[in-house]
This record gives sequence, C-alpha cells and structure tokens, in this order.
Amino acid sequence: MAVPKSKITPSRRGMRRSHDSLAASSYHECPNCGETKRPHHVCGSCGFYGDREVVSQKVVLETQEAE
Ligand SMILES: [Zn+2]
Repeated sequence: MAVPKSKITPSRRGMRRSHDSLAASSYHECPNCGETKRPHHVCGSCGFYGDREVVSQKVVLETQEAE
C-alpha cells in the first residue's frame, strides 16, 4: 500500500476540497409546455425535444392499451 511521505496540512487539504462542492443542476423552461426541463433533454412533461414531439404522451398510451 502506498504511504504518504508527509502530512497534508489543513491548508493543502482545504485547497483540494475547494473543488468538491456540488453545483445545482441547471434547468430551462420547455418552449412547448413551459415546464422546467433539463437542457438538451426530452421534456418529461410533454415529450417534446426542440420543436417536435419525440415521445408520445402518457395519456395517448393509456388509450391505446384500453382498446
Ligand atoms: Zn414540455
């Protein structure tokens, strides 16, 4: 097992940990329905990506299953 040659000072430890904080995830408003969505992802509310629908809405799927 590798053993550290010398003690890491509180200052060095703090400098290393200065990059450890988590950033809040970014979000945008969906241009179609206005829900918040992650950028570059399909909208989870309306299934749109950009200006076209790429995922069918859940309501449509339920009616197809009932037939
Ligand atoms: Zn949407």
